[in-house]
Amino acid sequence: MKPQTHLIEPKGKIKKQTAIDAVLKAIQLCEQIQAEMVSTDAIQKSDRSPVTVADFGSQALICKAINEAFPTDTIVAEESAQALQENAPLLERVADYVNRFCEETEVTTETVCEWINKGSGEVGPSFWTLDPIDGTKGFLRRDQYAIALAYIVEGVVQLGVLGCPSLPYHLDATDAERGCLFVAIRGQGTHLYTKTGELLKQVYVSEATYRFAESVESTHGDSEAHGKIANALGITDPPVQMDSQVKYGIVSRGEASLYIRLPNPAYPDYRECIWDHAAGLIVVEEAGGTVTDANGVPLNFLVGKRMHENRGIVATNGKLHQHVLKALSSKL
Ligand code: AMP
Ligand code: MG
Repeated sequence: MKPQTHLIEPKGKIKKQTAIDAVLKAIQLCEQIQAEMVSTDAIQKSDRSPVTVADFGSQALICKAINEAFPTDTIVAEESAQALQENAPLLERVADYVNRFCEETEVTTETVCEWINKGSGEVGPSFWTLDPIDGTKGFLRRDQYAIALAYIVEGVVQLGVLGCPSLPYHLDATDAERGCLFVAIRGQGTHLYTKTGELLKQVYVSEATYRFAESVESTHGDSEAHGKIANALGITDPPVQMDSQVKYGIVSRGEASLYIRLPNPAYPDYRECIWDHAAGLIVVEEAGGTVTDANGVPLNFLVGKRMHENRGIVATNGKLHQHVLKALSSKL
């Protein structure tokens, strides 16, 4: 097989393993914080969305790991240390947890902020994009959330690691073991691991047309329109409502045929963030599925942190894709 030189650094380290190890460690940190969480561990950002000790801690650990292995790599991540620098008790909490998951003797609060701010890179010819906790509302509700890391070269996602700490191995077996990691490499498929890093299997989308996934948050989509599209396709099952990119994970495993995300009518100008979709996109594509925006346009990861040239998201098993786009163009 032709070596994928852009995934291999001179040091011989492969980005895949660095990404997997970093996300696995972040899963441990998030779960520990979730188990011990106090009300002051969550604050509101200026856009009134929540951010927690776990979002900052996860970003610190992952940016540190990438920066140590690949010091010249650019990382475009969701959070910045600014809010922490204005909140000493919160910063202390973050540093405390980061210390528990670092080999170094005592990491200072300054170092933790430096690691978080390694994620303040800009979109360019090659870069990582990171959502340290995607679906923070789900994390706070103890529902689904994801740690989403992707590596993009010339606008094409080459590697995606999607950590889903609360996702059961099988969606419909509620007593099943939980904690999944989806790992996709361009041209090499999507593989499912446990949250302790054990390979379970390669995953594939399902040919069947049976149910669709949408966000739990009603303002993050247009569930009325999603329902109409599903009806037009003959899907009669109720939607699977989940937070975060876990939705891409269940499409990749064949547990839903479609993930649909149309702009909410109250926010027609909303444009999606790259870290909310890059890892999920490759996880579905490498499992045999298709991802575009609601107009059938490929997602453009080169225009900035927000995908200004795209509107909405459609992720399918592939077979269904043109039918969804057709239903969208005739109904909406
Ligand atoms: P989900 O859990 O699938 O709803 O995705 C969570 C993500 O939705 C967050 O990370 C936000 O970036 C994003 N988001 C926030 N507001 C909106 C909105 N009005 N429409 C679509 N997505 C949004
Ligand atoms: Mg997010």
